[in-house]
Amino acid sequence: MSASRDCLFCGIVEGRIPGDIVHRDERVVAFRDIDPKAPLHVLVVPVEHVRSLADARAEQALLLGELLVRAAEIAREEGVSDGGYRVVVNTGDEGGQTVHHLHVHLLAGRPMRWPPG
Ligand code: 5GP
Ligand code: ZN
Repeated sequence: MSASRDCLFCGIVEGRIPGDIVHRDERVVAFRDIDPKAPLHVLVVPVEHVRSLADARAEQALLLGELLVRAAEIAREEGVSDGGYRVVVNTGDEGGQTVHHLHVHLLAGRPMRWPPG
């Protein structure tokens, strides 16, 4: 699916909306969450507009893997890799997704509880 003008994260990817970008390549962009839920809270998103994990297709498996590998790389760069971190993909209404452009949350810097709320 192509970029949507109505999509907040497409706006950040395209630079129409400001974002604190920590990584950018042809396929993946990462930026700091505006309302962080942990001392480190980065969102890792595909450049391509994908609505949610539920919309991901088999042909996008490599792209989905890149989101995770990039999250791990950012965790190393931010110095939280050894201590540990959590990655989360909220999906759909009951999954708590509020922005409908697929994103991986990278959360770190405090102990994480289980199960999540
Ligand atoms: P979701 O609830 O869809 O899993 O996550 C959406 C995330 O986007 C939330 O953690 C929220 O704080 C973040 N967010 C919402 N609006 C903005 C924004 O304008 N800029 C940035 N950087 N993050 C945002
Ligand atoms: Zn989008």
